[in-house]
Formats: sequence, C-alpha cells, structure tokens
Amino acid sequence: MTVELICVGTEILLGSIVNTNAAYLAEQCAGLGLSCYFQTVVGDNEERLTQVLQMGMERSDIIILSGGLGPTEDDLTKEVAAKVCGKELQLHKPSKKAIEKFFAHRGMEPTDNNWKQAMLPKDAIVMENHNGTAPGVIIETKLCKLILLPGPPNELRPMFEESVAPYLEQLTNQVICSKTVKICGVGESKAETMVKDLIDIQENPTIATYAKTGEVHIRVTANGEDKKAALKLIKPVVKELKSRFGNDIYSTEETCTLEKAVADLLIANGLTVTLAESCTGGLLSARLVNVPGISDVYKMGVVTYSNKAKRRLLGVKKGTLQKYGAVSVQTAEEMAKGAAVSFKADVAVAVTGIAGPDGGTEEKPVGLVYIACCVKGRTVVKECRFSGNRDKVREAAVSAALTLLRRCILEYYSEVTFGK
Ligand code: ATP
Ligand code: MG
Repeated sequence: MTVELICVGTEILLGSIVNTNAAYLAEQCAGLGLSCYFQTVVGDNEERLTQVLQMGMERSDIIILSGGLGPTEDDLTKEVAAKVCGKELQLHKPSKKAIEKFFAHRGMEPTDNNWKQAMLPKDAIVMENHNGTAPGVIIETKLCKLILLPGPPNELRPMFEESVAPYLEQLTNQVICSKTVKICGVGESKAETMVKDLIDIQENPTIATYAKTGEVHIRVTANGEDKKAALKLIKPVVKELKSRFGNDIYSTEETCTLEKAVADLLIANGLTVTLAESCTGGLLSARLVNVPGISDVYKMGVVTYSNKAKRRLLGVKKGTLQKYGAVSVQTAEEMAKGAAVSFKADVAVAVTGIAGPDGGTEEKPVGLVYIACCVKGRTVVKECRFSGNRDKVREAAVSAALTLLRRCILEYYSEVTFGK
C-alpha cells in the first residue's frame, strides 16, 4: 500500500514553522510498512489544496493530511477534502458534545466558529481528539482513503497512535511490530557497514538505521498475521544485532534514552555522580536530570568555564593549565579527579573543549573536546573531534560524555571490553 502526506499551512511554506509533522508521520508510516512516495506542503488555499488532493488520490492508496482543521476561516482542509470526495458536511453530535465538554472543563465559552469543527463529512470515520477540539476524520472513497489530522503536534501524535495506526494495520490486514536496537559510541557509517549484509537481504523483517547525535538506532520491523508472528520474525534479527554490536547496545526498549540507560547503571551500582562542565555549560547535567529518580545518585555538579573556576572549584593545577592549556587531556583528567574529590562522588565526568566558532587553532581546532571519566579513582580520558556549529559540537560532546560514562562503569564492574 502506498501513502502520501499533505501538510497544509501557509506558515510552513513561509518557513515560520518547521514541518515536524511530516517527519513524524513519515517515520510512523515506514514503521508500519507503508511505502511513502510523495510529501507535499500546500498553503491554506482552496484551489491549490484541491489540486494536490486530486493528484494524490490518483497515485496513492492513502493520503494523510495534517493541519487546517481549526475553527477559523483559513482552516479549510476538511471542507476541501469533503468537496473533492463529493461528501456533504453534516453536524456530528458526539463531536459537538466533545467540544462542549472540552470548553466546560476549562471554564471557557466556545465561540460560534467552534461548532464548525463538529461539521464532518457524511459517512466519515471520526477520531476523537483528547487534546484539542478538532476531531480527526477518515474519508473512504473507492479510489483512496483520506486521513485528516489536526496540525498541532500534541494533538496529531496521540491521535495517530490511538486511532490511525490501528486503522492502517487493519487496512493492511497485517500486524506490524518493530523493535529498535539503540547503539552508542559507534559512528553511523561504521554501523551501517556492520549491518549492510543484513540490509541487502532484508524483506520481512526490514532493517533501517537512523543516525541520532552520538547514537545509531537500528529499527527492525516485521509484519505478520498477529503480534506473535511478527515478533517471532524480529527476534533472531535482534539477536544477530546483539552479537554484532555487543556492549555498544545500550537498550532495545522503545522508551529508553541514553541518559536513562546511564542513570540506571549508576543507580543499580549505587554510584554517586558529579559533573564538571566547561564547553557544555550544564547541558550534560540537564540531560542526566531528564531522568526521574536521578536525585538518588546525582547531588551536585558545576560549570567551570574559566581557568580560575577550574582551579578554585576543581583544584586543577596552575602549571597544568599553563603548560597544556584548558583544552587538554591533562586538564580534563584533573577536572574529573578534582570534582570526584571536592564533591565526594564515586564517579565524576569532566568536559572541556572548543565549541567555536572562534578560539580554534591549527593544533587545537574547533570541535576538539576532551572528556574525562573517573570511576572510583580510575580515570579515562577520551579525545573527540566533532564537526558542525557550536550547538552541534556541544550536543555531540554531551552524548559522547554519557557514552564514556556508561562504558567506564561497565568496564569497572565487569571488565567487559568494547570493540573500539
Ligand atoms: P488549530 O485548531 O490550532 O488551528 P489546525 O488543525 O487548524 O489547528 P493549523 O492551523 O494548520 O492546524 O496549525 C496550527 C498549529 O499547529 C501551527 O501553528 C503549528 O504550531 C502546528 N503545526 C501545524 N502544522 C504543522 C506541521 N506540519 N508540523 C509541525 N507543526 C505544525
Ligand atoms: Mg488552524
């Protein structure tokens, strides 16, 4: 089955909002095993929306539209879709009730134009919106299925998961399951090379790699007549990936993040942690604090941006800074060791680097970052060379720091070894 996406909104055309709905929907459709060959962005304009809809209906089995379901005059997706499909709009009482309830719950009065959202195409399948007032709509014609979703991502995403995904699964008469193998500390191209043979022969399950900052995710997707059958196909592939990537896999759980995997390790081993950050300016701390329950092990950390702060709070030696510079193996090591001692933690991570755009030299270019990790007195320093702008370098440094921390804890406790 083929699907195409039409995102409606002049704001997207003008670049005032980023089309994250398209990325989300495309990823979800791929996960469901649907082939997506076209994506269109069109403004809030009846004529042009009609045109892209007609074209889409000729060439795709399913069209997913996002945006333009709101109460205002310029929201015209539903009206145009109904017209193109030759369906009249009529009052849908349950949606009217839901809108009344939505406003009553917030102690607000609906305005007249809100009732427009309860006018739905005849015979349409209606999807409740638990996070807003516009219901989602599915219009089925002989040629094509049109799925209309509200624009705000906090409404679109839950509606997709609750209503659209099950609808699409039933259409394809297949259950689609996927499992994501999450890898840290292995570059995208290396990871891809390591699974190229599997990708080349893939059919069911399919294997796709996704690069994230400092991470690679490999999604294994299978379809079967039921969940059990699909999972049975996924299992041996995940096992094969585990044997290839070994300890570099930090999780196969959908909801687990790298910081969560690291936090779990710290908590499981009863290790208190402290952070001493220079170029990341607190970003590493923020990532770790994303994890609920981290307060058990994370008591304090510092941003030591200046040399003076590095000396005063972490005890980095003046001579070290003079001889090797603030961005050096030696400084990173003294920062981590000093933090562990000063803040009485079992584990300390220190980051020092040149995030740019200025400050780079031939010998120490922008993107050079040293990360030190000290686990119970045992310290490892890693030199990293990142590319990209200031934000990218800092983001990459945070992921690399979490990866190093994870690796050092694993090595400390189980003497495991890593590929690299
Ligand atoms: P509303 O009831 O808020 O008017 P709507 O269904 O009519 O919702 P739009 O008016 O098209 O949707 O967009 C409303 C908001 O939703 C936008 O201002 C934007 O914040 C977000 N949004 C819309 N389309 C997208 C998109 N493709 N990607 C990301 N966000 C989007
Ligand atoms: Mg709108």
